[in-house]
Parts: sequence; structure tokens; C-alpha cells
Amino acid sequence: MHKYIIMGVQGCGKGTQAKLLKEALDLVHISVGDIFRWHIQSHTKLGARIKRIMAEGQLVPDDDVEEVVRQRMEMHDWNYGFILDGFPRNLRQAAFFLESYDIDAVLLINVPDEVVRERILNRRLCPKCGVDYNLMFHRPAVANTCDVCGSELVSRADDTPAAVNARIQDFHTKTQPILELFRRKELVVVVDGTQPAEVVQQDLRRQLGQKVLKNASTESAIFAQ
Ligand code: AMP
Repeated sequence: MHKYIIMGVQGCGKGTQAKLLKEALDLVHISVGDIFRWHIQSHTKLGARIKRIMAEGQLVPDDDVEEVVRQRMEMHDWNYGFILDGFPRNLRQAAFFLESYDIDAVLLINVPDEVVRERILNRRLCPKCGVDYNLMFHRPAVANTCDVCGSELVSRADDTPAAVNARIQDFHTKTQPILELFRRKELVVVVDGTQPAEVVQQDLRRQLGQKVLKNASTESAIFAQ
């Protein structure tokens, strides 16, 4: 079983890396942001409460985050493990999670703020089939049109310059202190997220493999591909 948390400033590519790792290791990818976006799209009570907060790039209140994470974890569909994406975002959330679960590693994708700012502002999404594009390095064949279903592409509601700045600021002031906690437990693996996505993934898996070896586990073969 592999239990990971993936962290990094918004736009560092953690969603992409989480999906690749999920496929390789048969993990369940738990993205708290995706769960919240589902609530907004589905017009739930929670969705109505958090819509404006998310559009402004602010953090959703801890009570709501904890409830969503508790319910998701209690589904117990993570036989081979999980990769948590976008959670925990502050010390209270980290303490809440560690009360009930342990983790094997924290994967930190390092990308400078200026680079993520540019990446996020170029991010586009297909509202119908959910495919992600980037006007810098993954453009659609026809401008502003989804390659898969032909729908018009949109920006995420929280990908405005003001909201992006708020999220970058929150990462440094609220999320980074958690890293210190995990560093003390020797759980953190750091990769350079400015490299192409496949290279970042290789690097992640190589370092996780070394970590497994160090812990004298027999699971290292999984990473040796
Ligand atoms: P993400 O998809 O991880 O970029 O998250 C999108 C938005 O969802 C964030 O800007 C927050 O408004 C909200 N959100 C996601 N995860 C959390 C969390 N752990 N704590 C508070 N708010 C969150």
C-alpha cells in the first residue's frame, strides 16, 4: 500500500503528476479541489457556500474541507493506496489527517512563482469532457476548441490574476509550514517541476524507489520500471 500527499504551489503540475502516479501504482487520486468543483457544478448546498470563496482563490473553511476528506476516506476504495492532491493546505488540516491516517511520503513539486503564474493564466479547460489544455505547451489543434469533443474551451473561474496571487500567497504562508513538519519526519521527496511532465514523473518514481529501498521494503520492484 502506498499513501502519498502531493504538494506544490498551484499550477506546479501536481494534478498531472498525481494522475500518472495513480495509473502506475493503481492508487486512488483524491483531489479536494475536484470534489469542491463537483459540488459547485452539481449545485449542492456546500457548492453554494464555497462558490465565491473558490472563485476568489481563497481557502475553503477547514470544517468543510475536513468533512469532505473524512467522507471521501471513509469510502475505503483505496486498497492499493491513495494520493492526496490539494490537501492538507494548512497545519490544522495536516493535524486532522494525521490523527486518523499515516502517510509514506510527501511529494513536493518545486516550481518558481513566476513560472506557475504564467502557466495558470494560460490554462484552459473543456467544460464538457474535462480535458486540460495550456496555450503555452499543449494547445488545441483549433484555437479555443476542445480536440476531443469540439466544445469551446474556458478558463477556470479561479484562474484570474487576483485569485492566482491569493493562492500563491496562501501556499507560502499557510501550506509551506506543513512541509517543515513532514521534513522533520523525513517524509519529503522534492522534484524540479520545471522539467517536462514525463521527466518529473520519472524523477518522482526514482526517488520514491530509493526511499522504499532505504526503508528496506520489498516493494521496490514496482518503481524499477
Ligand atoms: P485546487 O484544485 O487544488 O487548485 O483547489 C482549488 C480551490 O479549492 C482552492 O483554491 C481552494 O479554494 C479550494 N481548496 C482545495 N483544497 C483545499 C484545502 N485543502 N483547503 C482549503 N481550500 C481548498
